Amino acid sequence: MSALFFLQFLFQGLFVFGQEASTVPSIHQLIQSQTDDIFDSLVKIRRDLHKHPEVSEQEEKTSKKIQEYLLSLGLEVKTNIGGYGVVGILKGAKEGKRIAWRADIDAMPSDVPDVVDFKSENKGVRHICGHDVHTTIGMGIANVLASQKENLQGTIYFVFQPAEENYKGARAMINDGLFDLIQPEEIYALHISPLPTGLIATKPGPLYAYLNRIDIKYKISDKDKDTLINYTKNLLSSYQNVEKDSKFWDVKNTLDPKVGLANPNTIFKNYLTLLQDFSIQESEGEVTISSLINSSDQQQLNALIKDVEAEIRTSRYAEDLLSVAYSYEKDILFNDEKLAPEALNHIANIYGAETAVLLHGVTPGYFGDDFAYFQEKLPGVYFFLGGSNYENGIISMPHTPNFAVDEECIRTGVNYFSSMMVERLND
Ligand SMILES: [Zn+2]
Ligand SMILES: [Zn+2]
Repeated sequence: MSALFFLQFLFQGLFVFGQEASTVPSIHQLIQSQTDDIFDSLVKIRRDLHKHPEVSEQEEKTSKKIQEYLLSLGLEVKTNIGGYGVVGILKGAKEGKRIAWRADIDAMPSDVPDVVDFKSENKGVRHICGHDVHTTIGMGIANVLASQKENLQGTIYFVFQPAEENYKGARAMINDGLFDLIQPEEIYALHISPLPTGLIATKPGPLYAYLNRIDIKYKISDKDKDTLINYTKNLLSSYQNVEKDSKFWDVKNTLDPKVGLANPNTIFKNYLTLLQDFSIQESEGEVTISSLINSSDQQQLNALIKDVEAEIRTSRYAEDLLSVAYSYEKDILFNDEKLAPEALNHIANIYGAETAVLLHGVTPGYFGDDFAYFQEKLPGVYFFLGGSNYENGIISMPHTPNFAVDEECIRTGVNYFSSMMVERLND
């Protein structure tokens, strides 16, 4: 054997060895093949949940199904937390970080006919907000990560939360000692959205607009009441920075590449606007003028109340003014400033930059999620999961009559977020 031939042989050998080494699948490839293996069974689970929806605080059967599934995966399971809440605990082979995944499980009262073949069999109740999909994805991630238990360093908690629609379930679980049972350091969740299937999106800070109700109260004097009411309406309206007939008011525009939430120059940021007409109430010599206010920014709302009061104090109604106050303030989602971009990056690195969209704007309207209460306890990130398939006429806009879901988004959700959770454990 000549020296040259020997070297060639050696390099060939190394080359072949190198190839073999690279064919050992990564944990993310194992995640994807496990997701593919269980995908059909997940679709069956989703359709079963869809056919048997249960409203907030009555999720008894749903809860039972989740419990049985988690037990079948070998997880430690806690039940009846804050109502029908269920927690599954998956311990990796090695000690490490503790992170939580939350899925909401309730359906809604709805008489709108179902648009799918696997229609709701519970009259007047429908999964019109996609929590059947959220539940299924939570179960799918539990399955996929349980299959990788030997490769996991740390603990993952699966929190299946009841009663999201009435904004009670998260608080109920917390008040029932959820964080005595488990001590996660980070928490994550998703909501189906009208984005196309294959995409997920989020941003640091708020995702949904702040929603407050302002009440301006006067004692009724001998001044003309209608003039007072008009003055107050005009004053409040003057703080709006969104035109009444602008693109802002068409929800479809939130997805527009030019003005929508994903564009850095989106029209859906830095806004303060009145969400509905004024209501006027009179009782015992007092008149209260109220309106709902939507804003992308808590500071604008804090400033508004002071500015409105200061302005009225300089007007001819100064001595009639009793109070300017918010009578309703919704706790809103607030994504951790550091974790949100990190989590997006994990997914972009594994599944492609185009799959993980950084948003810039804040969705206006009445939206919210009581995941906010978990985020008040620990850092967390809430994602939008694309569920639409425009070519097939499937638009995943929650709470709309034709709400439907491209079930491929179950695969996306299980893959992306299983991978992300692994990366978070390793971080
Ligand atoms: Zn909903
Ligand atoms: Zn929902």
